[in-house]
Amino acid sequence: MEILDKLSLLSDAAKYDASCSSSGSSRRASPGGVGDAAVGGICHSWAADGRCVSLLKVLLSNACAYDCAYCVNRRSNDVRRAGFEPEELVRLAMDFYRRNYIEGLFVSSGVVGCPDATMERLIGVAKTLRVRERWNGYLHLKAIPGSSPELVSEAARWADRVSVNIELPSAASLALVAPDKEPKAIFGVMRALARASGFEPRRILPAAPPPMTRPDLPADGGAAPVPANREPEFRDLPAVAGAAAEPRPAYSGNAPRARGDSVMAARALRPREPGSAILPAGQTTQLVVGASPESDAAILTLAENLYLAYDVRRVYYSAFVPAGTDPRVPALPGPPLLREHRLYQADWLFRFYGFRADEILGPERPFLDPELDPKCAWALRNLDRFPVDVNAADYLELLRVPGIGPRSASRIVRARSASRLRPEALSSLGVVMKRAALFVTCSGEAPRWQGKGRPPSPDAGYARAALADGAGRILSPRQLEFDWDAP
Ligand code: SF4
Repeated sequence: MEILDKLSLLSDAAKYDASCSSSGSSRRASPGGVGDAAVGGICHSWAADGRCVSLLKVLLSNACAYDCAYCVNRRSNDVRRAGFEPEELVRLAMDFYRRNYIEGLFVSSGVVGCPDATMERLIGVAKTLRVRERWNGYLHLKAIPGSSPELVSEAARWADRVSVNIELPSAASLALVAPDKEPKAIFGVMRALARASGFEPRRILPAAPPPMTRPDLPADGGAAPVPANREPEFRDLPAVAGAAAEPRPAYSGNAPRARGDSVMAARALRPREPGSAILPAGQTTQLVVGASPESDAAILTLAENLYLAYDVRRVYYSAFVPAGTDPRVPALPGPPLLREHRLYQADWLFRFYGFRADEILGPERPFLDPELDPKCAWALRNLDRFPVDVNAADYLELLRVPGIGPRSASRIVRARSASRLRPEALSSLGVVMKRAALFVTCSGEAPRWQGKGRPPSPDAGYARAALADGAGRILSPRQLEFDWDAP
């Protein structure tokens, strides 16, 4: 097979990995213009220092000994197979790099032979690039579940980022849908990556068990209802061998938040150095959403534990793309994109807003509200914590106000040290007043109501006030979305 045919096949086969997204553009340079876009797997990712880099995203081979039901490359799927020799891929990457087509490389692979043999081929690409070619570009390697810790550590020496995908959020679903992958094979790789980057894996005692039931499916798709005996959780996740247990403080209802138990707080205690030599861009993983019946609560609980236990940099949520007719996965009308979007928003709340999974969802509320973003939904469930006085509340309390993000909360804290804030000043500090107005005061002074109709009465309850305008019409979810201004 010609090398360009291989490239086309193997970059297309890599597009389902959500840890970086394909460009999808095919455009020649226009006269007088500079550069063109190629459909063949050039996508963008972010380096440890925040730079956006263009990546060649490709598989070393799409032949696979495993049979994961959600994957186009599974053993039982009748597709064309191809593979690069490591040397071929090195030459291709260097060629693209010299022509300025790419700034980095993302390499994954189907399992060829056994996990260790595949891992050795991936490491061969990385090491040749780094040592022989003295290549300094961004490199993201996919680790193969079940690889030995020594090989995983070796991969971490050469790559900026290494990821291993969990894919299914429970041991039971993994056994059903990806029977060749065992949880301990995946978590073993995560442990080795954490240790390679200087983080000793922690043992996180599980919070309340994830809920067992599933309400009606979201409008844009979802999985079949959960049989009562199939709701699993990764009970083996907390069992990090040899690690001391760290009980999580109990949290209930509206009690003040314990400050040392959120993902955001844990990260603040372990700041990373952008120039760190080993895995400067950390480890990541991906969860497929909608291919199995777990609730959002189960997915978020697992994600939170991964952040805390293994110092995972990012959990990606990938809406299941129905491809093929494997009976082990549901026949959805389309990928559950809205559900994926809400999970990303909830994940943002872990990392930048100090929330915990059990505040966002719980046994009585196993799925995210498709109509409201999770922060707004939380605020409406906790109205007794509002209004918040922007002149007195601390940074973490400010972060919980719809319409206030990390940037605007920091500006408020700085600005009020000079003088008492008035409602008119909040917009200029970046506060989105059409959402925040219902939830804040300035030393007792309420902001002017900016919605339609008469101002909402506090007696009527903030929930109704926030959800309906003066004429009783329901505001659209978009009007209640909070601002996602990451720091
Ligand atoms: S291991 Fe599973 S997910 Fe990975 S390429 Fe093979 S079939 Fe696909």
